[in-house]
Amino acid sequence: MLILKTNLRYKKITVKVGSNVLTKSDGTLNDTNISHLADQITKLRHEGVEVVLVSSGAVAAGRGEIGNGRKLDTVSARQLWSAVGQVKMINKWAEAFSKYGIVCAQVLTTKENFSDRVHYLNMKNCISTLIENKVIPIVNENDTISVTELMFTDNDELSGLIASMEDSEALIILSNIDGIYDGSPDLPESRVIREITTKSKPLNEAISTSKSSFGRGGMLTKYHIAKKVAKGGINVHIANGMKENTLLKIMNVSVDFEHTVFLSAKKKSSNVKKWISYSESFAKGELVVNDGARAVLLSSQATSLLPIGVISIEGTFEKGDLVKIKDETGNLIGIGKTEYNSEKAEKLIGNKNKKAIVHYDYLYIME
Ligand code: GLU
Repeated sequence: MLILKTNLRYKKITVKVGSNVLTKSDGTLNDTNISHLADQITKLRHEGVEVVLVSSGAVAAGRGEIGNGRKLDTVSARQLWSAVGQVKMINKWAEAFSKYGIVCAQVLTTKENFSDRVHYLNMKNCISTLIENKVIPIVNENDTISVTELMFTDNDELSGLIASMEDSEALIILSNIDGIYDGSPDLPESRVIREITTKSKPLNEAISTSKSSFGRGGMLTKYHIAKKVAKGGINVHIANGMKENTLLKIMNVSVDFEHTVFLSAKKKSSNVKKWISYSESFAKGELVVNDGARAVLLSSQATSLLPIGVISIEGTFEKGDLVKIKDETGNLIGIGKTEYNSEKAEKLIGNKNKKAIVHYDYLYIME
């Protein structure tokens, strides 16, 4: 299947491929699928599309190789499998791309690398350098060292962060399901929801909560990640990567391919705001705001948070740390970078005419 430049939907994409697409039912890597995806990505590259790949499959491939035989705790098992499987998985991609003379590279990361702006920018620079040098970055979580609370929810979360960091026009999430259904995918009357906008009604209840057999994620996390990424200005496509030419069909504006697309908000968030929006778990403290400040922050106006709107402060933080912003009933309203350390902020509570405690440019308001 060929797409002409004039039919291309995007020029810059992040593609996430799930473990179920990359591995067979016995857990070994699925050469045919990997090679078909490499083939499609190569075609897109020839048309000038920039692609960053987020690939799962390390844990599944390692388990396929080593088996379940040994008695290991879950953390050790995941470390063993991912360490063995990552090599296998990346080699399969390298082999598949080398047929077309394309070089790919492994980028392993952890959630912690996203919590620190310097690490974040280093990672961003690494991926940009690879792209400038015509190398395809293949990103995965470093499952050997990121365990328990340090882990990403799954690679869907990681792919959302990568798409935002790279300023991709779209994130394409490929699994073994056709998209998000309006009921259980097993029921004959359920239909794939073709389009979700930032204004669409929440769907949580309709979405199946069952998990994929090899990966960590499920449709519900895909839905939440996709909404967040779309809110930040990036379209998200959720589609079946087991089908023929899925990627090329999605990328071709003239083809109507059944899958779910989350259409992005018109206004793009700045890169800093996107980064902040993903950093909730790294916030060092909390600012509790009064009802007046709450109303202003949640309105459509662009407003900074001033000390006069703050009623209390929790935790110890330094200037430049991320803090959660909550209302008096404890609801999370937003996350922002603070302009004061906690000691100074405490002294300024309720004061008029003081510089913002969180400037609008560094403030992310939740939905
Ligand atoms: N990073 C995991 C792997 O490579 C996949 C996590 C997920 O299933 O989303 O096996």
